[in-house]
Amino acid sequence: LLDALADMGALAIERVRLVEDLDRAERAAETDRLARALLTSISHDLRTPLASVLGAASTLRDLDAALPGEAKADLLATIIEESERLNRFIVNLLDMTRLEAGAVAPNLAPQDLGEIVDTALRRTEGVLAGHRVVVEMPPDLPALPLDPVLFEQVLVNLLDNAAKYAPEGSLVTVRARRDGARIRLEVLDEGDGLPEEDVERVFDKFYRVRKGDRVRAGTGLGLAIARGFVEAMGGTVTAGNRGDRNGAAFTVSLPARTAREDRAA
Ligand code: ADP
Repeated sequence: LLDALADMGALAIERVRLVEDLDRAERAAETDRLARALLTSISHDLRTPLASVLGAASTLRDLDAALPGEAKADLLATIIEESERLNRFIVNLLDMTRLEAGAVAPNLAPQDLGEIVDTALRRTEGVLAGHRVVVEMPPDLPALPLDPVLFEQVLVNLLDNAAKYAPEGSLVTVRARRDGARIRLEVLDEGDGLPEEDVERVFDKFYRVRKGDRVRAGTGLGLAIARGFVEAMGGTVTAGNRGDRNGAAFTVSLPARTAREDRAA
């Protein structure tokens, strides 16, 4: 009997090993698959705008004298826009890398939320030019413990998306209000919003609702970075749809005081 039990034990251990090996192989295959998808996506996202820049610059060089002023202006606009896109993509990749390396150390100091919102709106003026923008800030908001550089980037990413995924002429609203010991900041748009089953997944790295969307180019990194930065500052960010009309609603909830101030209170 003992022998039989020992055999069974050995068999069980063998099975556990097999399952573990399989798990490991599956995880390795998944990591491999992700790495390949990442490389494909990165090379595509880098090469597409770069090809446009090279094309426009070469045309300017070769045909310079023959080109009417308007055509030159168009080519220059292409060069600038595509270079900005490249720059955004590289900034995103670097931000993501910093987050994953655990190298994001927020510099928390009391900040005027309204001022950070203004700066973010100035930075997104170009992309939001076709939209109407409304800002609703209560006058008595307390200063919040934020890293202004990180928080500005969070807002820029949310505003960029509102500009990209909501039609021209529609209204983008940025509003803040007090909610007990926290401050809620919302970015609302009038686009198609998000499929309910995707409201969590949009924060995943490289996740995009419409995968092959070439018109609204993107990397699927903006929201992952926004969430990483907000969480590093002790806040949360959630996605959803508006209750009052069509459109997405992104809500950032921030502590009104630092954890240390909370303990002292
Ligand atoms: P990107 O915009 O570069 O694709 P993000 O991480 O910023 O990456 O967003 C992930 C996905 O979430 C987008 O591809 C889009 O499908 C969806 N999304 C983000 N913001 C909005 C919005 N305001 N309205 C509708 N869909 C959105």
